[in-house]
Amino acid sequence: MTAHTKLRQNLVINGKIQSHHQDRLAIVYIRQSTLQQVERHGESTRLQYGLAEKAYHLGWSRDRVVIIDDDLGRSGSNAEGRPGFQRLVAEIGLDRVGLILGIEISRLARSCRDWYQLLEVCSLFRTLIADADGIYDPASYNDRLLLGLKGTMSEAELHVLKQRMVEGKKAKARRGELGMQLPRGYIKRPSGEIIKDPDEQVQSTIQLVFELFDQFSTVNAVLKYFVKNKIKMPDRERLGLQKGDLKWNRPNRPTLSNLLHNPIYAGAYVYGRRSTDPRRKKPGRPATGRTVAKPSEWDVLIKNKVPAYITWEQYERNLRQLAANSMYGIGVSREGPSLLSGLLICGRCGLRMSTYYTNNSNKLRYSCSRMAVDYGESLCQSLVGNPLDNLISQQVLEALKPSALDVSLQVAEDLERERKNLLAHWEKQLERARYEAERAYRQYNAAEPENRLVARTLEKRWEETLSAEEKIKQEYAVFLNEQPTTLTSAEREAIRQLASDIPSLWFASTTTAAERQEIVRLLIDRVIVAIEGNTEKVFVEIHWAGGHQTYANLIRPVAKLTQLSYYAQLLNRATELKKARKDFTEIADILNQEGFKPPKRQETFNKGMIHTLLVRTGVSSNKKTRSQQVNRMPNEWTFRELSQRINIPEPTLYRWMQKEILIVRRVKEVSHNGIWLITADEKEIKRLESLKNQPKQWIYHSRVKKVN
Ligand SMILES: [Zn+2]
Repeated sequence: MTAHTKLRQNLVINGKIQSHHQDRLAIVYIRQSTLQQVERHGESTRLQYGLAEKAYHLGWSRDRVVIIDDDLGRSGSNAEGRPGFQRLVAEIGLDRVGLILGIEISRLARSCRDWYQLLEVCSLFRTLIADADGIYDPASYNDRLLLGLKGTMSEAELHVLKQRMVEGKKAKARRGELGMQLPRGYIKRPSGEIIKDPDEQVQSTIQLVFELFDQFSTVNAVLKYFVKNKIKMPDRERLGLQKGDLKWNRPNRPTLSNLLHNPIYAGAYVYGRRSTDPRRKKPGRPATGRTVAKPSEWDVLIKNKVPAYITWEQYERNLRQLAANSMYGIGVSREGPSLLSGLLICGRCGLRMSTYYTNNSNKLRYSCSRMAVDYGESLCQSLVGNPLDNLISQQVLEALKPSALDVSLQVAEDLERERKNLLAHWEKQLERARYEAERAYRQYNAAEPENRLVARTLEKRWEETLSAEEKIKQEYAVFLNEQPTTLTSAEREAIRQLASDIPSLWFASTTTAAERQEIVRLLIDRVIVAIEGNTEKVFVEIHWAGGHQTYANLIRPVAKLTQLSYYAQLLNRATELKKARKDFTEIADILNQEGFKPPKRQETFNKGMIHTLLVRTGVSSNKKTRSQQVNRMPNEWTFRELSQRINIPEPTLYRWMQKEILIVRRVKEVSHNGIWLITADEKEIKRLESLKNQPKQWIYHSRVKKVN
């Protein structure tokens, strides 16, 4: 009888271990939750492997001890995604397991549900469970109670631990000390200080993203620029042997968009910007289910914590612009008669203004969309499009006059400057590639010839750097090819020639709106408009492609007299004249002579307008007018009343009367000429209102029978 068999018999007699247990497997179940824990707690892992030894001492022969450690490095609060645990349960279910060993065995399962399932299966198949404290038989009532308690305690402990960790993390975050994943453009010093990436090219590339977004206002345009000029995005390796090494990746939309959304570039430390919503989480993908919270919902925001690439104001403006873009699609030139769609920037908030067409594309409006973005806010500003379009086309023609050709020469100079910047970028890239190749060569050269394996690796690395350098050289050649050469004097002359033809081309009936848009786009980067208050005055700032700016004042038509910037002045003067016993016609004439302009597009004031102005403000008493003396039928209106009711100008109503669209009658009882009354009940008013938005030829088809 061997010593082992003797040991076996002793245990069978003394304890819970029976021979039917020993005839089956002893499984040592090893688990740690995260890779970090695996690294740090090597000690605990060694302890767990020591359990195999324990199984042997408990009487299992070595070939019957199995170690399951599939779950190493896998975190999980339930059995999903932990094949080791599932395999364990399966083995028990196949009646092949006599004993399970583990350190703090209740941690086998991280949630009570898994734990009770395990106990159930173990008791069914008479499998024992052993941990540092002892051996338990789940089939026995007392042991089962104890095991259940252990499981509950373990889960409670896990909960407390987690809570403590989360709280600790938050406290650290509030101090701005919680290590965050640093995005491209930043690195952390060994001291823990966060600084801008010391690589000059990295910094200038990040800076370029913000400059371009400022210029183009869309992620797409920035991306296009990067792709067109073959500029790559810098990044540092995050893991592995090359950790910290600089690499250059092809830019893509999400990368650029993340960069613009990330508050760190404005120098801020933020915690709680991205939280995980378990409802959106997909199985097997720990990073999904992330949601991005609004700035007001961030747990922690500390400004000026790290060196910034942009100001906080610029960051906020970028966020608004991005939101506006996603709401209105991308602000590029759209089909339509508008000259400036996609070019217009609101001078009040810095956002791109949208283009709207009302009345079947007849009326163009430019409007700042901020209201729609910052919910609930009222309209930022909005103006009728045509006067602005006219102003800009006038300016463009002015700029294209042969005498004003220095504009285009300025453009050429700026292209040259931009080209120089790009060249510098390419040279840095080439220099880097050359340096890498040289370094690889030096390393290869320095390797001992005897150490062939190392030499071969280094040689391979050297070859790779050489071919990388070659590739950059080729791309550089392509870039040089695509660049325009500087203008010869003959070309300048040709431009001058073309320029003198431009006005006639511009106004030619064969020139489409889209072609005019194209011309404007070539010459103008953006137009910034700011309406002064709610008045007729608009300040216009034109940013030309060359980078220089011109300014203009625009008078826009406004709806009401009261909106006019000189309303107070106008009213004072009119009141003065009224007191001087002038009648309305005389007042109108004087105001016109003195240079006052009415709102909307009327050129001059007339008697009616002065009457409205003075009656409304109470300067002139509103005597009972003729129309009020007439005995009216139900639903009868004067032209003025109806005009105000359905917001259609009186002249239009008179035209409609001539075209027999209105139901009218003449009342002669009050004066020699009599006055006209229009019959319109609610239904008729609706009909007339619907006519308002229809093209003229349609309206004239909708005559009514004349009623006398
Ligand atoms: Zn605005």
